[in-house]
Amino acid sequence: MAYLPQASGQPILILKEGSTRDKGKGAQSKNIQAAEIIANILKSSLGPRGMDKMLVDGLGDVTITNDGAAMLKEMDIEHPAAKMMVEIAKAQDNEVGDGTTSVVVIAGTLLKKAQELIDKDVHPTIIIQGYKQAADKALETYNDIAIKIDPTDKEWLKKIAGTSMNSKMVSGHKHYLSELIVDAVLAVSTTVDGKHKVDIDDIKVEKKPGGSMKDTQVVQGIVLDKEVVHSGMPKNISKAKIALLNAAMEIEKTEFDARINISSPEQIKQFMEEENRLLKDMVDKVTNAGANVLICQKGIDDTAQHYLARSNILAIRRSKQSDMEKIAKATGARIVTNLDDLSKEDLGNADTVEERKVEEDKWVFVEGAKDAKSVTMLIRGGSERVVDEAERSIHDALCVVRDVVENPAIVGGGGAPEAEAAARIREWASKLAGREQLAATSFADVLETIPLTLAENSGLDVIDIGVKIRAKHKKGNVWAGVECTKGSVSDMLELNIVEPLAVKEQIIKSATEATSMILRIDDVIASTKTSAPAGPPGGGMGGMGGMPGMM
Ligand code: ADP
Ligand code: MG
Repeated sequence: MAYLPQASGQPILILKEGSTRDKGKGAQSKNIQAAEIIANILKSSLGPRGMDKMLVDGLGDVTITNDGAAMLKEMDIEHPAAKMMVEIAKAQDNEVGDGTTSVVVIAGTLLKKAQELIDKDVHPTIIIQGYKQAADKALETYNDIAIKIDPTDKEWLKKIAGTSMNSKMVSGHKHYLSELIVDAVLAVSTTVDGKHKVDIDDIKVEKKPGGSMKDTQVVQGIVLDKEVVHSGMPKNISKAKIALLNAAMEIEKTEFDARINISSPEQIKQFMEEENRLLKDMVDKVTNAGANVLICQKGIDDTAQHYLARSNILAIRRSKQSDMEKIAKATGARIVTNLDDLSKEDLGNADTVEERKVEEDKWVFVEGAKDAKSVTMLIRGGSERVVDEAERSIHDALCVVRDVVENPAIVGGGGAPEAEAAARIREWASKLAGREQLAATSFADVLETIPLTLAENSGLDVIDIGVKIRAKHKKGNVWAGVECTKGSVSDMLELNIVEPLAVKEQIIKSATEATSMILRIDDVIASTKTSAPAGPPGGGMGGMGGMPGMM
């Protein structure tokens, strides 16, 4: 609607021609439907028996994934409320790295239940309040049942990584990969004021299609996808002294057109010799500093390469800035921008720098660095799509291990904590006033969608599993959850299905927040898309858009 009627009958234009407005329950239910649709798309991919999605982008590139955040990223979503679902998946990914499908499923189901309550004339404010209280109760439950562990206990950490990978294509190799993932995280972990800190960025992830997942390895150092620049150079240096140079080893071209008049062959020779001498001087500066490895962010002239090779220096050119920084951090080298400044103190140390063949490529491995707070995970696998999905799954697994190292508390998986929280919320809600009680019990029902969806996705009888799970929790079996492969309700801790407390907490927090935000909206005003500017700016009255005071 672009205008509102006035008492005189004369319409006043408030919004630009073509703008739309949805009010009250209509607006609400459209938003809820949109969010629900997104949740329903993701629902079938939850858990170890969940299905994958194949997404095709505008260019025809195919992504096959089970990762909630990745799915939503690839989908071209328009609706504003649906976009909020994408936002929470992203936030979940940034905060804790796993649980992206769960958070969207829970938020979508919370909204669906809210719609049922709105239809029964419960006001959205009451629903928001009831949800908020129930969410606090859920967080309280999680913290109450969580198990504190030693953050360096590799056995627990491997179980955490394994559970995260259960639901992914890489699950067949989870034991092998868990070991690598835990090693990588512990290798870069530091202690600040007695607390463990892990920066995931210290773990470089490189992937190369070919070989099998079993060929995936952790390199205690940095892998550069660059080859040694000259065939005459050594391919393996032990006790490496590494110079990092952010300048070209070339003769600079002049900015303007300069002409040199050469009139005799003598002069040509002189000219060439002068160029050679300048380049040799550059190489001498590297050798005089005592370096035997040169990693250059810019180019290296052929002649300079020749002299470097003659001095037995292993050199790489056009290295990425991020790699330069990583090597600097790991080896203690300083990045030098002017060769004249290069001295012994600027060099970094590593046990070995070696060129190795990785499929058809040659890569350089920098290993045994002085301060080995940098490792590289080299992911291998059958095809490009396989290594891409492996990278996403390994990212999730690295994140959950980090979560636990930083905040060493865990809970069981398989929907056990959700079922326990649901039971406790129901019991507590019985004391609440009528309508809030409805909202709180709805929240409990929503939490149960996690175990029930896990059951549904595994082809189990949902009603049967629901009854069994409730009964076991009533008997005080806190870790009773759905075991997807055998199809039973069992103790998740005994089965080593464990997750970080941090992931579960974040799911409750973000899902409740997003739900409240969407429920509070009772008016959606959308202006028309301005795809191309029509005429010069300021031209045309454009329906006198934007007079907020009139609303
Ligand atoms: P998300 O993106 O939310 O992490 P996933 O598809 O990774 O979604 O599924 C995670 C859920 O699967 C968690 O609730 C986790 O406890 C559960 N899960 C993982 N392994 C098992 C298993 N073997 N049996 C039952 N549930 C499992
Ligand atoms: Mg997961």
